[in-house]
Amino acid sequence: MAENKYSKNPRAEKLMGLRPEGIPIDFPEELGYLCPRCGKKHTLQWSEYKSFIWCEACNEDFPSPLCMPDLKRATEIFLDVISDGLTRAAEKITKETFLEAAEIVKNLNDYPSGADKYDAGWCDCAGEASKRLERKARGEDGRQD
Ligand SMILES: [Zn+2]
Repeated sequence: MAENKYSKNPRAEKLMGLRPEGIPIDFPEELGYLCPRCGKKHTLQWSEYKSFIWCEACNEDFPSPLCMPDLKRATEIFLDVISDGLTRAAEKITKETFLEAAEIVKNLNDYPSGADKYDAGWCDCAGEASKRLERKARGEDGRQD
């Protein structure tokens, strides 16, 4: 069956995302990678998942640091993977997700005002923080009157 031809890793897809379409410049083999399971290198291809390498012989996606026998380079690759994952997570935090989180907190704490208050609160928060900084810069104590 076509859909079972390649290994699937939904967690890798969710956490790291799919690799953008395009023709890679180098094959993993040319960059020194080898399969951590079978030890072959000519069977490796860039996985459909970012930061993963797929072995055709094993039909399995492996995190790219595990495919790097040079431990110093593997450590650097590992840190790149962490950095990519954190960047991806940070990009997902939008005003909408903040408001969603605020709504959840509101429900938990039974906050008396409506959700639109949080919309204004998003701006008020930043505005209040900058007012406090201004007052502090002028030598005032920074507390509200
Ligand atoms: Zn393999």
